[in-house]
Amino acid sequence: MEWNELLIRYGELSLKGRNRNFFVRRLRKNIKDAMHDLSSVRLRAERDRMFLLSDNPKEMKEAMERLPDIFGIQSFSPVAKCEADLEAIKAKAIEVIGSHETKGKTFKVEIKRADKSFPYVTSELQQEIGGHVLRHFPELGVKMKHPDIQLLVDIRTDGAFLTSSTHKGAGGMPVGSNGNSLLMLSGGIDSPVAGYLMMKRGVSVDAIHFASPPFTSDLAKQKVIDLAQKMSTFGASVRLHIIPFTELQQAVVHQVPENLSMTTTRRMMMQIADKVREEIGALAIVTGESLGQVASQTLESLTAINAVTSTPILRPLIAMDKLNIIDIAQKIGTYDISIRPYEDCCTIFTPANPKTKPRLEKVEHFESYFDFDALIEEAVKNRTVVETGKVAVEEFDDLL
Ligand code: ATP
Ligand code: MG
Repeated sequence: MEWNELLIRYGELSLKGRNRNFFVRRLRKNIKDAMHDLSSVRLRAERDRMFLLSDNPKEMKEAMERLPDIFGIQSFSPVAKCEADLEAIKAKAIEVIGSHETKGKTFKVEIKRADKSFPYVTSELQQEIGGHVLRHFPELGVKMKHPDIQLLVDIRTDGAFLTSSTHKGAGGMPVGSNGNSLLMLSGGIDSPVAGYLMMKRGVSVDAIHFASPPFTSDLAKQKVIDLAQKMSTFGASVRLHIIPFTELQQAVVHQVPENLSMTTTRRMMMQIADKVREEIGALAIVTGESLGQVASQTLESLTAINAVTSTPILRPLIAMDKLNIIDIAQKIGTYDISIRPYEDCCTIFTPANPKTKPRLEKVEHFESYFDFDALIEEAVKNRTVVETGKVAVEEFDDLL
């Protein structure tokens, strides 16, 4: 079946009152970005819905495959177009119904007639088209309430438009409509899921990764780049900042007693992240921490880590079970990348018995003997930035 248009609906957006225009424009930009390499695909926006149009069936199919990943879309329907002529509509209806499994199924025709000059009334059209379909597919039953296939024929002055199915969109809000954040991205299972959940709420994401070569390998780095690349398909490109962390980690091991080194390492990461966050103009830091998973994820530990900044630290997974997190990771396609074997800077330097209840005064006391600030500044300065995802087609001009 060759479709001519994709009708896009955006549910939650309509609740947004005054900000509506802003959200719709952001969604429009994200869709355009996602389709930027499909040159035949055009976007047309109406008051409360949008259409993707193309006369290239291959690109239309590709566009249809990309739509379910874009946040802010509630649902979409493929549309077939033909001349506003009864015979043409009947022929198209057969094609459209033929794209469904019809055995043991029920159907119904619904007519919308915006073009009042069309020479048939609604009931005539329903009978003509419905009868024609039944002659072609005698196995179909007719059902007025909740049929399996609902054929909608919309007759307008510029043609007749037929739809018969609605696909679920990703929901959520357009990425970028709720500000920017910096995601601490390890190579593990959790942090990409945390980033995904923030993006779903409309927050765009830069990512920061701490690498400690030669203790961590190029493969470990590539894995994180692949994760950022994968995350870019959810609606906006993810820029990745890679921090050289070896020197700092070694300093921590020398300066701080072993059972507190994990806490201090986290505090260093957080301070570096906060500086990068400030440079890129993001408003929050996001982590994949989940309460009680490991020693650094107790409330005491989180308190000691939080103490280095007043920036909001968002932890969307904090109350989630690991199995739930894995489930999401599998659904969004990051799981297979995350489980590639790799060494994380934290695991390599993990002490045998990290304190699960570190005391802030103690941590601060040991840190005070060394000028960590200089190393923090240097790490921020020497970071490498990797661009992933698609390049924006046009700059987004704010309405607000
Ligand atoms: P993940 O699966 O995300 O690695 P985890 O359960 O393994 O999480 P930790 O390794 O303790 O937990 O990491 C907790 C959080 O700290 C991560 O979710 C991530 O946000 C951040 N983090 C850990 N290591 C790094 C790293 N090398 N670079 C950037 N962020 C990191
Ligand atoms: Mg980890």
